[in-house]
Amino acid sequence: MLHRLRPQQDPLTEFFWHSGADGLLRVQTCSDCGYRTHPAGPVCARCLSSRVGPQPVSGLGAVLSYTVNVQQWTPGQEPYVVAWVGLDEQEDLRLTTNIVDCDPWSVSIGDRVQVAFLERHGYHYPLFRPVTP
Ligand SMILES: [Zn+2]
Repeated sequence: MLHRLRPQQDPLTEFFWHSGADGLLRVQTCSDCGYRTHPAGPVCARCLSSRVGPQPVSGLGAVLSYTVNVQQWTPGQEPYVVAWVGLDEQEDLRLTTNIVDCDPWSVSIGDRVQVAFLERHGYHYPLFRPVTP
């Protein structure tokens, strides 16, 4: 799971792919109503304000849904988890990501996870690992 496609160049989402350089996950946040929108867009998804910009979030969340990929897209590739993670800050704030640093067959819906960035070619891809109690 080392291979990563580069994100499409987009000035609205560029911050998201570089945010992890300092270890913080950032999400577009509205200065008028506080609503967070992912992926980022030109206006707030709730109040349509254009006063939006990246703000840090905790990087904590829970697995809402997942699947284990067993298809070997590259020779020798191990099974990996593709997941939908809901962030703690807002009920409908969700990322499609991978769950790493664990047995893929141990993941369950509701598992607590924390962000863990994978750096590749200058981008910081937000992945998640189980929260250790
Ligand atoms: Zn708003």
